[in-house]
Amino acid sequence: MLTGMRRHDRKMAAFESALRAFRAGLPHLGELRVSARAELDDLREKGVERVKALACGGSSCPACLAVAGQVFDVETAIRAMPLPVAGCTHVLDRRIGWCRCEWVAQLNDYEE
Ligand SMILES: [Zn+2]
Ligand SMILES: [Zn+2]
Repeated sequence: MLTGMRRHDRKMAAFESALRAFRAGLPHLGELRVSARAELDDLREKGVERVKALACGGSSCPACLAVAGQVFDVETAIRAMPLPVAGCTHVLDRRIGWCRCEWVAQLNDYEE
């Protein structure tokens, strides 16, 4: 099993690999999913049971806004992997589809 620090390295490496692929016009969602999965594993290991999809406010694309604010059991999120959003239309460096959504811990006694 990976330690927290090793997993953080893995997460960042996957994120950077995804960004390089995206900028080169290559498929990037696989690596970006590896990064998101590492984050979910990390949250689960810390005892987090539910996670919320966090988008980038008003600058998010419609596909990401549709997922934003949704709360999932960690296990469900790992199975379904709603992030990164496959249909994202956010433009980065003149290329379409760089999802910036993130998982955050949803605390049990907290409702918005
Ligand atoms: Zn988007
Ligand atoms: Zn997104």
